[in-house]
Amino acid sequence: MPVLSYLHQLFNVDQCQAYIHTLRWKDRPLQCPRCQSHHVGPWGTYHYQPGLKRYRCKEKDCKRTFNDLTNTMLHQSKRSLSHWILATFLLCLACSSRRIARELGVRHRTSYRWCWWLRNAALSYEMQRQLEGTVEADDLYHTAGNKGQAQGGGKKSLGRRARGRRKKREPGRGHYDKDRPAIIAWVSRQGAVVIHATRDFTVKTVQKAANLAVQAGNRLYTDSASSYRAVKGYVHAYVNHTQKEYARGDVHENRAECLFSLLKPYLRVFRGISKLNLPGYVGFFQFLRNFRQLNAFEQAELILQAALDPAIARRAKKGELVTCFDHFDLLQTGRLREARLLSPPRLRTGREVG
Ligand SMILES: [Zn+2]
Repeated sequence: MPVLSYLHQLFNVDQCQAYIHTLRWKDRPLQCPRCQSHHVGPWGTYHYQPGLKRYRCKEKDCKRTFNDLTNTMLHQSKRSLSHWILATFLLCLACSSRRIARELGVRHRTSYRWCWWLRNAALSYEMQRQLEGTVEADDLYHTAGNKGQAQGGGKKSLGRRARGRRKKREPGRGHYDKDRPAIIAWVSRQGAVVIHATRDFTVKTVQKAANLAVQAGNRLYTDSASSYRAVKGYVHAYVNHTQKEYARGDVHENRAECLFSLLKPYLRVFRGISKLNLPGYVGFFQFLRNFRQLNAFEQAELILQAALDPAIARRAKKGELVTCFDHFDLLQTGRLREARLLSPPRLRTGREVG
């Protein structure tokens, strides 16, 4: 459906409420969020949030009241539902949190928090994704430093010269410790994709990523990097880029390379990202890519539906749904605390001190 048919609903409080009500109780009948009883009835409204209906549990030892937003991501938010719906829509159009703050008229701190919660909620659709059929793989190294990680807010002393965004990188493979983590893309020729942000590109990491992303026994096409050649459990073929071989009959990885040509401009919008947040951004891009046959508002609807599920909302706020660096070879290096990712993402500004 075209966006216009959704947009006009945003200006009507009652329609927003009805929309959220439908999404909240889509998969389950109206029930008490505390004792799961279906024995509930209406119980007036709230004066501070027009349109929001209140219900009361009629169970003898419960008798608590609740509403459509209880225990969801939108619970106790001071902003209206139109704010939330529009923010989710803009997020699916690949807007940055600063842009969303400007369009919505909320503080950047607010929109930044919302963006991460919503991105994490979207990841609930990507948790179990495993690819089948012929799968292509490729790797990329993305510059990601410590943006926004200054202790106590304000400007941080880098301890090095500023990187200069357009400066040439040193040649060779990147590494998390060199501020260039690896991104591995797995693209099925049936359409689905899985993208991993990893610390490095060792055989062990690639094997682990492959096991997560691709069902065993499938066909795997890559370039001639030695880490791919060592991967076990798949029917593997590769093209040799150093010999200017980019396709050999059916064997090529052009889809994976094409995916990177889409991922790079997507990440550029954020003007440099923190390596701690990289898995979150990449994961959300994976969601957008896997639901690319939907328009932005339909994608937003999926995210809102997840955000209105109390179980998902709780985990999304803590950032538990991200496939983070922890999943890749971190336990031995003792850097687990450093890579404590997105739980919750910290945005420090000068004003926040004290
Ligand atoms: Zn109850």
